[in-house]
Amino acid sequence: MDIIHLLPDSVANQIAAGEVIQRPASCLKELVENSLDAQATRVQVIVRDAGRTLLQVIDDGIGMSETDARLAFERHATSKIREAQDLFSLRTMGFRGEALASICAVAQVEMTTRRKEDETGTLIEIHGSDVVREEPCVCPVGTNIKVSNLFFNVPVRRKFLKTDQTELRNLLTEFYHIVLVYPKVSFTFVHNDEILLELPAGSEKQRIEAIFGNPKKNVFTSSFVEIKTDTEMVNIRGFVIKPESATKKAEQYFFVNGRYMRHPYFLKAVQTAYSAMLPSDYQPSFFIYFDIAPEAIDVNIHPTKTEIKFADEQTIFQILMASVREALGKFTLAPQIDFDTQGSIDIPVATGGAVSKPQVTVDPNYNPFHTRGTIYPDRAPKNWESLYEGVQGAEFRVQNSEVRSQSSEFRVQNSEFRSQNSEFRIQNSEFRLQDAENYPMWQYGGKYIFVQTESGLMMVNQHRAHIAVLFYQFLEQLGHAQGAMQQLLFPEVLNLQADEMILAGQLLPDLQAIGFDLEQLSPDSYSIQGVPAQLANQSPLPVLQHIIRQVHERGADTQAEWREQIALSLAENAAIPYGKSLNETEMRDLISRLTQLSSYGRTPDGKTIISLMSDEEMNRRFS
Ligand code: ADP
Ligand code: MG
Repeated sequence: MDIIHLLPDSVANQIAAGEVIQRPASCLKELVENSLDAQATRVQVIVRDAGRTLLQVIDDGIGMSETDARLAFERHATSKIREAQDLFSLRTMGFRGEALASICAVAQVEMTTRRKEDETGTLIEIHGSDVVREEPCVCPVGTNIKVSNLFFNVPVRRKFLKTDQTELRNLLTEFYHIVLVYPKVSFTFVHNDEILLELPAGSEKQRIEAIFGNPKKNVFTSSFVEIKTDTEMVNIRGFVIKPESATKKAEQYFFVNGRYMRHPYFLKAVQTAYSAMLPSDYQPSFFIYFDIAPEAIDVNIHPTKTEIKFADEQTIFQILMASVREALGKFTLAPQIDFDTQGSIDIPVATGGAVSKPQVTVDPNYNPFHTRGTIYPDRAPKNWESLYEGVQGAEFRVQNSEVRSQSSEFRVQNSEFRSQNSEFRIQNSEFRLQDAENYPMWQYGGKYIFVQTESGLMMVNQHRAHIAVLFYQFLEQLGHAQGAMQQLLFPEVLNLQADEMILAGQLLPDLQAIGFDLEQLSPDSYSIQGVPAQLANQSPLPVLQHIIRQVHERGADTQAEWREQIALSLAENAAIPYGKSLNETEMRDLISRLTQLSSYGRTPDGKTIISLMSDEEMNRRFS
């Protein structure tokens, strides 16, 4: 059966017309995409003089019937679309039926093609749209198209071509865009009889390595981390460079549904995820593949354009940024927050007797608002989930432009203890955070900080925001036994029940690491002589009781679990309370430190920190 049909004019007109073939690279793109549309598993590209004299593409795809071979060169002849609405669900690449017609109008084209059910193939030769030869031929299954002397009849075009070097670079760039999404297809690229690329079929990773890496050194595998996030709205996967491997020159590739795309806004999301990790003139390299329902993107009608519009770019921005951050967080922070293999401190477990005290720094002037730089902000855990081994990457579900983590019930190291951080939300609240310094903000009701951002009004719960910030600081300090201690003038006595005493003995090294100075007084009491500096102004008794009770109730029985509880209790107690008025510097400091955390939509125990009112919503209220 012949499969090519002519599009009705009405449909053809709905398709934006345009110059398809502007330079050798666009011609190559069309030819290779046709081969892939034809299900080729092997594609050879042969180029001479950067495509000026020869561009040849040989594939082992389905080939064409004799009739189709002829029809293929007519304008709007295509086997890939019937109705205009097909445009919106189309996943194949070529869809306009214009490429071959355009190419043969400006070059000398010779094609041989054969389907596997046909014994003979077809040879067609066309010069500037005139068929000069058409005959049966003997040829392998698949299609072999030779485009010679491009623009032979369009001197102006020819004149506008750049140097061979530039055109060859354009050819390769275009080629990369395609071959990176077809790792299962093998490709070769030959220029002036020299094999420039030999790409065997393999995984995405191997394809990237084959193009950009030095296979002997495994450059790729050693300098990239994998990202993967599946949501109802979009699936994102790919590879992002480790910050320390980044350079000024970067390979930055976005693909959506198997097509390369440029997307400055999403680029911003990736850059933001790296923000503080790279020197200002460095760029992250990445290969990121989006999978999204075709209805959710504005199909790129013009084949030479690579920009694509998404239905909900803000949400995808958030998902993308979170995904990259998570990957980077896992990679950069995991060694430092691996509680089981802490090498930096060595505290013997209390057995009831004397316990050697870890080094504790005293900072009597400690002020939670002025700790930038002293608490290793860049080493703070970036992601709550990534603190735990065996925790799957957060799976996001998108609901009304909110992203909700579903990594809800994970077990921490085989214990029954469950983090309360059952879900956290990334709301449309992570705006271009570097600029946060400049957004107008004010305090409302002694409880909330309102931030006016480009995308709407961000409302932040000041107490919870501070809990999140402090939580990570405390965790970090616990890991390094670097809590700042404030000596108490009048020691207090903590009386405990027998079972609580056992727990307290277990927690003692960590309580000391964070800045408590505790000494056992009797079989059922401790004397408290010093407290973490952040708690200097309050009675330590309720705090310690709270910690012990929570650890007990939750059955936290590994160090990672009780450290988390200690950090949370301390954070809750040390966080600025409601009703405290904040000056502008304090607000900015808090917001900026909050937004440096990778998931800050919720507190570690799942309470909402940030709520956003978009401009649309605001306007709707007044409509
Ligand atoms: P489009 O790709 O938009 O359909 P083209 O002008 O690029 O338009 O190609 C026209 C038709 O020719 C295609 O729809 C396809 O049926 C056929 N064709 C082109 N190249 C190949 C190929 N390499 N293998 C098999 N069929 C091809
Ligand atoms: Mg095509």
